[in-house]
Amino acid sequence: MKAIFDERQWVHDPKHFMANGTLYPNPEQPRRIEVLQSGADKAGCSFQAPGDHGLGPIAALHTAEYLVFLKTIHERWKRIEGASDEVIPNIHPDRRRASYPRSAVGQAGFHQADTSCPIASGTWQAAYWSAQSAIEGADLLASGEQAAYVLSRPPGHHAFEDLAGGFCFLNNSGIAAERLRKAGRRPAILDIDVHHGNGTQGIFYERSDVLTVSIHADPVRFYPFFWGQAHERGEGAGRGYNLNLPLPRGTGDDDYMKTLKTAFDHIEAFGSDVLIVALGLDAHENDPFKGLAITTPGFGKIGEAIAKLGIPVLFVQEGGYLSDDLGHNLTSVLSGYQSV
Ligand code: ZN
Repeated sequence: MKAIFDERQWVHDPKHFMANGTLYPNPEQPRRIEVLQSGADKAGCSFQAPGDHGLGPIAALHTAEYLVFLKTIHERWKRIEGASDEVIPNIHPDRRRASYPRSAVGQAGFHQADTSCPIASGTWQAAYWSAQSAIEGADLLASGEQAAYVLSRPPGHHAFEDLAGGFCFLNNSGIAAERLRKAGRRPAILDIDVHHGNGTQGIFYERSDVLTVSIHADPVRFYPFFWGQAHERGEGAGRGYNLNLPLPRGTGDDDYMKTLKTAFDHIEAFGSDVLIVALGLDAHENDPFKGLAITTPGFGKIGEAIAKLGIPVLFVQEGGYLSDDLGHNLTSVLSGYQSV
Protein backbone atom coordinates (compact mmCIF):
# COMPACT_ATOMS: atom_id res chain seq x y z
CA MET A 1 0.00 0.00 0.00
CA LYS A 2 1.23 3.50 -0.80
CA ALA A 3 1.74 5.83 2.15
CA ILE A 4 2.21 9.59 2.18
CA PHE A 5 4.20 11.84 4.50
CA ASP A 6 6.21 15.04 4.19
CA GLU A 7 9.31 15.70 6.33
CA ARG A 8 8.07 19.25 7.03
CA GLN A 9 5.36 17.73 9.25
CA TRP A 10 8.08 17.24 11.90
CA VAL A 11 8.45 20.95 12.67
CA HIS A 12 5.32 21.23 14.83
CA ASP A 13 6.52 20.37 18.34
CA PRO A 14 3.81 21.45 20.81
CA LYS A 15 4.65 21.79 24.50
CA HIS A 16 1.54 23.07 26.24
CA PHE A 17 -1.32 20.81 27.27
CA MET A 18 -3.72 21.33 30.14
CA ALA A 19 -6.18 18.77 31.48
CA ASN A 20 -8.43 19.33 34.47
CA GLY A 21 -6.48 22.49 35.27
CA THR A 22 -3.14 20.69 35.46
CA LEU A 23 -0.28 21.25 33.00
CA TYR A 24 1.18 18.19 31.25
CA PRO A 25 3.56 17.68 28.30
CA ASN A 26 1.56 17.79 25.05
CA PRO A 27 0.83 14.17 23.98
CA GLU A 28 0.81 15.00 20.25
CA GLN A 29 4.59 14.56 20.06
CA PRO A 30 6.63 14.54 16.83
CA ARG A 31 8.01 11.15 17.91
CA ARG A 32 4.61 9.70 17.00
CA ILE A 33 5.81 10.06 13.40
CA GLU A 34 8.64 7.54 13.63
CA VAL A 35 6.47 5.09 15.58
CA LEU A 36 3.69 5.33 12.99
CA GLN A 37 6.14 5.14 10.08
CA SER A 38 7.62 2.00 11.53
CA GLY A 39 4.13 0.53 12.06
CA ALA A 40 3.18 1.30 8.45
CA ASP A 41 6.48 -0.11 7.16
CA LYS A 42 5.78 -3.40 8.93
CA ALA A 43 2.42 -3.57 7.13
CA GLY A 44 4.29 -3.28 3.83
CA CYS A 45 3.63 0.40 3.13
CA SER A 46 5.99 2.37 0.90
CA PHE A 47 6.19 6.08 1.73
CA GLN A 48 6.26 8.92 -0.74
CA ALA A 49 6.15 12.71 -0.30
CA PRO A 50 3.13 14.71 -1.49
CA GLY A 51 3.20 17.32 -4.20
CA ASP A 52 2.20 20.89 -3.36
CA HIS A 53 -1.46 21.27 -4.37
CA GLY A 54 -1.68 24.79 -2.96
CA LEU A 55 -4.25 26.37 -0.67
CA GLY A 56 -7.29 25.78 -2.90
CA PRO A 57 -8.23 22.32 -1.57
CA ILE A 58 -7.69 23.55 2.02
CA ALA A 59 -9.70 26.74 1.49
CA ALA A 60 -12.52 24.57 0.11
CA LEU A 61 -13.31 23.77 3.77
CA HIS A 62 -11.62 26.43 5.89
CA THR A 63 -12.35 30.17 5.92
CA ALA A 64 -9.78 32.57 4.47
CA GLU A 65 -9.87 34.50 7.76
CA TYR A 66 -8.87 31.36 9.67
CA LEU A 67 -6.07 30.49 7.25
CA VAL A 68 -4.63 34.01 7.57
CA PHE A 69 -4.80 33.57 11.35
CA LEU A 70 -2.95 30.22 11.29
CA LYS A 71 -0.25 31.62 8.98
CA THR A 72 0.40 34.89 10.82
CA ILE A 73 -0.62 34.57 14.45
CA HIS A 74 2.68 33.32 15.83
CA GLU A 75 4.61 36.31 14.38
CA ARG A 76 2.05 38.72 15.78
CA TRP A 77 1.85 36.97 19.14
CA LYS A 78 5.61 37.27 19.68
CA ARG A 79 5.30 41.08 19.62
CA ILE A 80 3.23 41.00 22.82
CA GLU A 81 5.47 41.81 25.76
CA GLY A 82 5.87 38.78 28.00
CA ALA A 83 3.97 36.45 25.67
CA SER A 84 4.73 32.71 25.76
CA ASP A 85 6.54 30.94 22.88
CA GLU A 86 3.27 29.28 21.90
CA VAL A 87 -0.05 30.90 21.06
CA ILE A 88 -2.49 29.68 23.72
CA PRO A 89 -5.90 31.29 24.21
CA ASN A 90 -6.93 32.63 27.59
CA ILE A 91 -10.27 34.23 26.67
CA HIS A 92 -13.11 32.99 24.47
CA PRO A 93 -16.12 34.69 22.91
CA ASP A 94 -19.52 33.96 24.41
CA ARG A 95 -20.73 31.39 21.86
CA ARG A 96 -19.92 32.45 18.29
CA ARG A 97 -21.96 35.55 17.56
CA ALA A 98 -19.45 38.00 19.02
CA SER A 99 -17.59 40.58 16.91
CA TYR A 100 -14.46 39.38 15.16
CA PRO A 101 -11.55 40.68 17.24
CA ARG A 102 -8.56 42.56 15.78
CA SER A 103 -6.03 41.71 18.49
CA ALA A 104 -3.81 38.62 18.54
CA VAL A 105 -5.15 37.66 21.98
CA GLY A 106 -8.76 38.02 20.85
CA GLN A 107 -8.19 36.08 17.63
CA ALA A 108 -6.48 33.26 19.54
CA GLY A 109 -9.63 32.93 21.65
CA PHE A 110 -11.81 33.08 18.53
CA HIS A 111 -9.92 30.47 16.51
CA GLN A 112 -8.61 28.08 19.20
CA ALA A 113 -11.25 26.07 21.02
CA ASP A 114 -9.02 24.91 23.86
CA THR A 115 -5.47 24.90 25.26
CA SER A 116 -4.41 21.69 23.51
CA CYS A 117 -3.70 23.27 20.12
CA PRO A 118 -0.77 25.61 20.85
CA ILE A 119 0.66 27.38 17.80
CA ALA A 120 4.43 27.83 17.53
CA SER A 121 6.76 28.83 14.68
CA GLY A 122 6.48 25.50 12.83
CA THR A 123 2.78 24.83 13.30
CA TRP A 124 1.45 26.32 10.08
CA GLN A 125 4.09 24.62 7.96
CA ALA A 126 3.47 21.20 9.54
CA ALA A 127 -0.33 21.54 9.35
CA TYR A 128 -0.09 22.66 5.71
CA TRP A 129 1.98 19.63 4.71
CA SER A 130 -0.16 17.28 6.76
CA ALA A 131 -3.12 18.51 4.68
CA GLN A 132 -1.10 18.22 1.45
CA SER A 133 -0.41 14.58 2.35
CA ALA A 134 -4.16 13.97 2.69
CA ILE A 135 -4.82 15.70 -0.66
CA GLU A 136 -2.17 13.55 -2.32
CA GLY A 137 -3.83 10.46 -0.83
CA ALA A 138 -7.21 11.55 -2.20
CA ASP A 139 -5.67 12.07 -5.64
CA LEU A 140 -4.14 8.58 -5.56
CA LEU A 141 -7.60 7.10 -5.00
CA ALA A 142 -9.16 9.39 -7.61
CA SER A 143 -6.66 8.02 -10.12
CA GLY A 144 -7.54 4.41 -9.40
CA GLU A 145 -5.51 3.33 -6.35
CA GLN A 146 -7.62 0.99 -4.17
CA ALA A 147 -6.16 2.05 -0.83
CA ALA A 148 -3.57 4.40 0.67
CA TYR A 149 -2.37 5.44 4.11
CA VAL A 150 -1.79 9.09 4.96
CA LEU A 151 0.44 9.85 7.95
CA SER A 152 -1.31 13.15 8.55
CA ARG A 153 0.25 14.68 11.61
CA PRO A 154 -0.73 17.06 13.15
CA PRO A 155 -4.15 15.38 13.03
CA GLY A 156 -7.34 17.09 11.84
CA HIS A 157 -10.74 15.78 12.95
CA HIS A 158 -11.29 18.31 15.77
CA ALA A 159 -10.71 21.26 13.41
CA PHE A 160 -13.86 23.12 12.24
CA GLU A 161 -13.97 25.54 9.30
CA ASP A 162 -12.52 28.35 11.44
CA LEU A 163 -11.54 26.71 14.71
CA ALA A 164 -8.55 24.67 15.91
CA GLY A 165 -8.85 22.32 18.88
CA GLY A 166 -7.71 19.02 20.36
CA PHE A 167 -4.23 18.96 18.67
CA CYS A 168 -5.89 19.71 15.26
CA PHE A 169 -5.59 22.69 12.89
CA LEU A 170 -6.68 21.64 9.38
CA ASN A 171 -9.29 18.93 8.86
CA ASN A 172 -7.26 16.49 6.79
CA SER A 173 -9.97 13.80 6.49
CA GLY A 174 -12.56 16.37 5.46
CA ILE A 175 -10.20 17.98 2.95
CA ALA A 176 -9.57 14.55 1.39
CA ALA A 177 -13.31 13.82 1.26
CA GLU A 178 -14.07 17.13 -0.43
CA ARG A 179 -11.24 16.56 -2.91
CA LEU A 180 -12.73 13.16 -3.83
CA ARG A 181 -16.24 14.59 -4.05
CA LYS A 182 -15.00 17.22 -6.50
CA ALA A 183 -13.44 14.38 -8.51
CA GLY A 184 -16.95 12.93 -8.91
CA ARG A 185 -16.94 10.43 -6.04
CA ARG A 186 -19.48 9.93 -3.25
CA PRO A 187 -17.41 9.84 -0.07
CA ALA A 188 -18.27 8.74 3.43
CA ILE A 189 -16.02 9.50 6.39
CA LEU A 190 -15.83 6.82 9.07
CA ASP A 191 -14.14 8.22 12.18
CA ILE A 192 -12.87 5.49 14.52
CA ASP A 193 -10.75 7.75 16.75
CA VAL A 194 -11.71 7.37 20.44
CA HIS A 195 -12.78 11.03 20.44
CA HIS A 196 -15.81 12.23 18.51
CA GLY A 197 -14.88 13.88 15.19
CA ASN A 198 -16.56 17.14 16.10
CA GLY A 199 -14.77 19.32 13.53
CA THR A 200 -15.64 16.95 10.69
CA GLN A 201 -19.25 16.78 11.86
CA GLY A 202 -19.41 20.58 12.07
CA ILE A 203 -18.00 21.11 8.58
CA PHE A 204 -20.46 18.75 6.87
CA TYR A 205 -23.42 19.16 9.26
CA GLU A 206 -25.72 20.87 6.76
CA ARG A 207 -24.60 18.87 3.73
CA SER A 208 -25.98 15.69 2.20
CA ASP A 209 -23.12 15.02 -0.22
CA VAL A 210 -20.63 13.66 2.34
CA LEU A 211 -21.80 11.15 4.96
CA THR A 212 -20.09 11.52 8.35
CA VAL A 213 -20.07 8.64 10.82
CA SER A 214 -18.20 8.63 14.13
CA ILE A 215 -17.72 5.81 16.67
CA HIS A 216 -16.26 7.15 19.91
CA ALA A 217 -16.27 7.09 23.70
CA ASP A 218 -19.42 8.71 25.09
CA PRO A 219 -18.67 12.45 25.34
CA VAL A 220 -20.77 12.87 28.46
CA ARG A 221 -17.53 12.87 30.48
CA PHE A 222 -14.97 12.79 27.70
CA TYR A 223 -13.49 15.19 25.12
CA PRO A 224 -14.98 16.93 23.11
CA PHE A 225 -17.83 17.24 25.68
CA PHE A 226 -20.11 19.50 23.58
CA TRP A 227 -20.58 17.21 20.57
CA GLY A 228 -20.88 13.53 19.76
CA GLN A 229 -24.33 12.56 21.10
CA ALA A 230 -26.48 10.14 19.12
CA HIS A 231 -29.23 12.74 18.61
CA GLU A 232 -26.90 14.95 16.50
CA ARG A 233 -28.06 13.84 13.05
CA GLY A 234 -27.34 16.86 10.84
CA GLU A 235 -29.41 19.92 10.01
CA GLY A 236 -31.21 21.29 6.98
CA ALA A 237 -30.12 19.46 3.85
CA GLY A 238 -27.75 17.47 6.06
CA ARG A 239 -30.43 15.97 8.30
CA GLY A 240 -29.86 12.23 8.43
CA TYR A 241 -26.34 12.45 6.97
CA ASN A 242 -24.45 12.52 10.27
CA LEU A 243 -24.37 9.42 12.45
CA ASN A 244 -22.89 9.36 15.95
CA LEU A 245 -22.35 6.03 17.68
CA PRO A 246 -21.13 6.82 21.20
CA LEU A 247 -19.96 3.84 23.27
CA PRO A 248 -19.64 3.43 27.04
CA ARG A 249 -16.14 3.98 28.40
CA GLY A 250 -14.13 0.77 28.40
CA THR A 251 -16.04 -0.91 25.52
CA GLY A 252 -14.02 -3.84 24.09
CA ASP A 253 -13.68 -5.59 20.73
CA ASP A 254 -16.96 -7.55 20.59
CA ASP A 255 -19.34 -4.67 21.20
CA TYR A 256 -17.21 -2.43 19.02
CA MET A 257 -17.55 -4.80 16.05
CA LYS A 258 -21.34 -4.79 16.40
CA THR A 259 -21.32 -1.00 16.32
CA LEU A 260 -19.05 -1.03 13.28
CA LYS A 261 -21.68 -3.13 11.49
CA THR A 262 -24.27 -0.38 12.14
CA ALA A 263 -21.84 2.17 10.67
CA PHE A 264 -21.33 0.00 7.57
CA ASP A 265 -25.09 -0.35 7.03
CA HIS A 266 -25.34 3.44 6.76
CA ILE A 267 -22.27 3.76 4.56
CA GLU A 268 -23.68 1.17 2.16
CA ALA A 269 -27.13 2.76 2.19
CA PHE A 270 -25.55 6.12 1.34
CA GLY A 271 -24.13 4.51 -1.80
CA SER A 272 -20.56 5.47 -0.98
CA ASP A 273 -18.04 4.60 -3.65
CA VAL A 274 -15.05 5.64 -1.56
CA LEU A 275 -14.38 5.60 2.19
CA ILE A 276 -12.16 7.92 4.20
CA VAL A 277 -11.24 6.28 7.50
CA ALA A 278 -10.33 8.90 10.11
CA LEU A 279 -7.89 6.48 11.70
CA GLY A 280 -7.44 7.27 15.35
CA LEU A 281 -5.63 4.50 17.22
CA ASP A 282 -6.43 5.94 20.65
CA ALA A 283 -9.37 3.57 21.18
CA HIS A 284 -6.71 1.00 22.19
CA GLU A 285 -6.81 -0.38 25.73
CA ASN A 286 -3.35 1.01 26.58
CA ASP A 287 -3.67 4.44 24.98
CA PRO A 288 -2.99 7.17 27.56
CA PHE A 289 -6.53 8.57 27.08
CA LYS A 290 -8.18 5.32 28.29
CA GLY A 291 -11.50 5.87 26.54
CA LEU A 292 -12.23 2.45 25.00
CA ALA A 293 -10.49 -0.94 25.27
CA ILE A 294 -9.82 -2.20 21.73
CA THR A 295 -7.01 -4.77 21.58
CA THR A 296 -4.22 -4.89 19.01
CA PRO A 297 -5.80 -7.96 17.27
CA GLY A 298 -9.10 -6.06 17.49
CA PHE A 299 -7.64 -3.37 15.23
CA GLY A 300 -6.82 -6.14 12.75
CA LYS A 301 -10.48 -7.21 12.75
CA ILE A 302 -11.54 -3.60 12.18
CA GLY A 303 -9.18 -3.44 9.17
CA GLU A 304 -10.57 -6.72 7.79
CA ALA A 305 -14.17 -5.56 8.20
CA ILE A 306 -13.40 -2.30 6.40
CA ALA A 307 -11.87 -4.23 3.49
CA LYS A 308 -15.02 -6.36 3.17
CA LEU A 309 -17.00 -3.23 2.28
CA GLY A 310 -15.34 -3.61 -1.10
CA ILE A 311 -14.82 0.08 -1.91
CA PRO A 312 -11.54 2.07 -2.14
CA VAL A 313 -10.29 3.27 1.24
CA LEU A 314 -8.11 6.19 2.27
CA PHE A 315 -6.75 5.78 5.79
CA VAL A 316 -6.02 9.23 7.26
CA GLN A 317 -4.16 9.22 10.57
CA GLU A 318 -5.87 11.01 13.45
CA GLY A 319 -5.07 10.39 17.14
CA GLY A 320 -3.25 7.57 18.89
CA TYR A 321 -0.61 8.49 21.44
CA LEU A 322 2.72 7.16 22.58
CA SER A 323 2.57 3.73 24.18
CA ASP A 324 4.40 0.47 23.44
CA ASP A 325 1.39 -0.56 21.33
CA LEU A 326 0.89 2.43 19.03
CA GLY A 327 2.99 1.16 16.11
CA HIS A 328 1.63 -2.39 16.46
CA ASN A 329 -1.93 -1.08 16.29
CA LEU A 330 -1.24 0.62 12.97
CA THR A 331 0.44 -2.52 11.61
CA SER A 332 -2.57 -4.53 12.77
CA VAL A 333 -5.26 -2.40 11.12
CA LEU A 334 -3.39 -2.04 7.82
CA SER A 335 -2.41 -5.73 7.72
CA GLY A 336 -5.96 -6.76 8.58
CA TYR A 337 -7.21 -4.61 5.71
CA GLN A 338 -4.75 -6.15 3.27
CA SER A 339 -5.46 -9.72 4.38
CA VAL A 340 -8.90 -9.72 2.70
ZN1 ZN B 1 -8.48 11.08 19.63
